[in-house]
Amino acid sequence: MIERTSPEALREQHAAYVFANVATYYDEPLVLVRGEGATVWDADGRSYLDAFGGILTVLLGHAHPAVTERVKAQVERLVHTSTLYVNEPMVTLSARLAEVTPGALKRSFFTNSGTEANETALLVARLYTGREAVLALRHSYHGRSALTLSAGGQGAYKAGGSLPGVYHLASPYCYRCPFGLTYPACDLRCAKDAEEVILTAAGGEVAAFIAEPFQGVGGFITPPPEYFKEVVAIVRRYGGIFIADEVQTGWGRTGRYLWGIEHWDVVPEVMTSAKGMANGFPIGWTIATEEVAAAFTKATISTFGGNPVSTAAALAVLDVVKAENLPENAERVGEALQDGLRALQDLYPAIGDVRGKGLMVGVELVHGGKRPAPDLLRRWMEAARKRGLLIGKGGLYGNVARIAPPITIGRSEAEEIVRILKAAMEDVMPYWERDA
Ligand code: PMP
Repeated sequence: MIERTSPEALREQHAAYVFANVATYYDEPLVLVRGEGATVWDADGRSYLDAFGGILTVLLGHAHPAVTERVKAQVERLVHTSTLYVNEPMVTLSARLAEVTPGALKRSFFTNSGTEANETALLVARLYTGREAVLALRHSYHGRSALTLSAGGQGAYKAGGSLPGVYHLASPYCYRCPFGLTYPACDLRCAKDAEEVILTAAGGEVAAFIAEPFQGVGGFITPPPEYFKEVVAIVRRYGGIFIADEVQTGWGRTGRYLWGIEHWDVVPEVMTSAKGMANGFPIGWTIATEEVAAAFTKATISTFGGNPVSTAAALAVLDVVKAENLPENAERVGEALQDGLRALQDLYPAIGDVRGKGLMVGVELVHGGKRPAPDLLRRWMEAARKRGLLIGKGGLYGNVARIAPPITIGRSEAEEIVRILKAAMEDVMPYWERDA
């Protein structure tokens, strides 16, 4: 029997022994002990509707039986080999992924996190082009290694200085347009920023542009429809390739398609994913075209990358997403969720913007004059938690609620999310400030 530690003692030990900068949500950090479907339970036995999908990792919901069975069988058979040996789930997964990814994406390399997936992507882009300059978006998040932190566009995470060779472009953030313009009259000024940055800061040539099809940590920033086509055309004109970071947006999350980038009708040379790919098991994945992958000629190895347990979990995820047509479900239920949230926007001036696609929906909270309201979001999250709902936080100012439940939920759960958020907003509105 494993002795259970009380939640109070766990919180005390967390405060004493874990790096103090490890961010946790809520005044009293949540101690989770169990999950099933879209429900999680804390150490005090309270249950919550998990509208953040374990930070978008439990794509199919907690403890999905298809994943559990496949993983159990694999654990009993073979846990680990390293990339030095060939294992069946990894190879089968690689072949399947070549089929379900856009364009000529073909060769896969597996690691343990989104950070490593992007590190690999940036490395192959530099090797392929023989150039250094990496373009990334302000507000973006790509990981916590030195290079991916440098590529990230949020000051709050940029510890330890930045590596050279990374340049940031204005984000396609229409609610707070960096150029003070309005779509479509803006003529996509933000995309044109790429050319200016390449010709000035980057010295006229570029290795890669890395971007999330919908920015995750940045607060589910949703670009105008033509943005990616235009910016990627500029990058290619200067010899660079496009890396789509699908860590949050892959596997049907954004509805209709398997990949977020498919909404924008652009085919990347390299794509990465992680998070929901193995429904909670650690995995990172980089896929590249034959040509780009061929530029990586030095021997490479990953001890746990491509391990048969995580890749078996990913195979189960892919099977379920396809068999249950979950991208279509995410689109349908996501639309209902956005409709419900837009109805709240009509009622409450604290809700400045509702955006996103599929089951990736952001709600930006503001005081009067569009002043970012991180204080209101903190209160909204606490009030929702008290009523049994977990949501996430994002945005440069920490004022964007991130709603990303498992993509298996139905309309009734979407209605429940809206119902609880409405009740929680009643608690928050007394703190709304009219004047900017
Ligand atoms: N890219 C994106 C878009 C992410 O959201 C994240 C994680 N928040 C990462 C990369 C890094 O993934 P990991 O935490 O697995 O290293």
